[in-house]
Amino acid sequence: MNGCIFCKITAGQAPAAILYEDELAVAFHDIHPVTPTHVLVVPRRHITSVNDLTPADEGLVGHLVYVAGQVARQEGIDQSGYRLIFNTGPDAGQAVFHLHLHLIGGRRMGFSIK
Ligand code: AMP
Ligand code: ZN
Repeated sequence: MNGCIFCKITAGQAPAAILYEDELAVAFHDIHPVTPTHVLVVPRRHITSVNDLTPADEGLVGHLVYVAGQVARQEGIDQSGYRLIFNTGPDAGQAVFHLHLHLIGGRRMGFSIK
């Protein structure tokens, strides 16, 4: 999608510190980490938010979660623990309107991280 920063990153047209990529998804470091480990897992296809998922996307979302778990292990936080978050809409503070799964960890977290 024109002007979408995550479409640019997945297409290799904007810089990112990429940790993992395959035909469906790309994982890269969040530019403003809120925890010692903060990675975004995004689908290559532009989807605006969880609100726009269709039944055909169920496998893709499962893949994003699976990739996040693999990256957590790669980053050494699978045993210490982590959170996976899809911010959706204004109350969640969604700022980038291309679906992304936050993988955060590396420190003990309270219920609120912001
Ligand atoms: P959200 O509030 O869920 O929409 O979060 C968007 C996240 O994307 C924020 O944590 C930003 O720090 C992150 N972000 C925005 N632009 C970039 C970028 N170019 N590279 C990496 N992370 C980014
Ligand atoms: Zn996009």
